Amino acid sequence: MLVVDSLTKSFGDHTVLRGVDLHLDKGEVVALIGPSGGGKSTLLRCINQLELPTSGQVTLDGTPLVSTRGGAVVAPSAKALLRVRRQIGMVFQSFNLFANMTAEQNIVFAQRAALGTGKDEARERARTLLERVGMGHKAGSHPSQLSGGQQQRVAIARSLALDPRVILFDEPTSAIDPEMRSEVLSVMRELAEAGMTMLVSTHEMGFAKQVSDRTVFLCDGGILEEGPSRSLLEQPTHDRTRQFLRAIA
Ligand code: ATP
Ligand code: MG
Repeated sequence: MLVVDSLTKSFGDHTVLRGVDLHLDKGEVVALIGPSGGGKSTLLRCINQLELPTSGQVTLDGTPLVSTRGGAVVAPSAKALLRVRRQIGMVFQSFNLFANMTAEQNIVFAQRAALGTGKDEARERARTLLERVGMGHKAGSHPSQLSGGQQQRVAIARSLALDPRVILFDEPTSAIDPEMRSEVLSVMRELAEAGMTMLVSTHEMGFAKQVSDRTVFLCDGGILEEGPSRSLLEQPTHDRTRQFLRAIA
């Protein structure tokens, strides 16, 4: 359903992605692992058009998302960008909630801005989603009054509010105290079990092994190897992958 085709990204003469091909089936959970600076965040940002790829294409259910003119990548129109935002959710390491809004207001705002949802309907959906991520009791709290794990669960609820086809997660637990991580990971596990299509950049090998169907090892801007999570993590083919897994163990 989500296809990344020959994606490259350079910042000036620094090439960060060198032709990435990736394919996610509906309902599939794919973990994206690899050394720092390898291009994981850049890949996720190029997929949802937060960053303009240098070349290549991203296709969602057959629809190309990267705008091109005469073969060259061009900035998407506001309308095209909005369509991408609705269809592809993103959850960031740093939560990115609006500090001046409560948990509920964050989710209401997202729906009204991206979908034009009416106030009452948006509020009701916000409540339902906050319950779903175990945050119903904190609907009226501002981000500063919430722990990292709680903020991230609100951010996940906000992303779900747009009813995306895919959610990209960029190291969703790495800014959270270790003891708070499990609450976020269990929300993600439930989403996976409910059939959400997810691409998750992570350093949590436990999550990769237990929840993801497939793991992709991204290194120096390219996919060095990929495969069913358990076999890739337990019996990697490449020395470079083995070295990486040993270093973070
Ligand atoms: P980490 O595990 O530390 O999050 P990562 O795999 O997510 O790393 P990226 O953040 O995608 O790696 O970075 C890949 C490379 O791209 C790095 O060398 C980084 O310095 C470079 N890079 C990322 N964003 C920019 C930018 N806006 N301008 C210039 N270089 C950038
Ligand atoms: Mg990153």
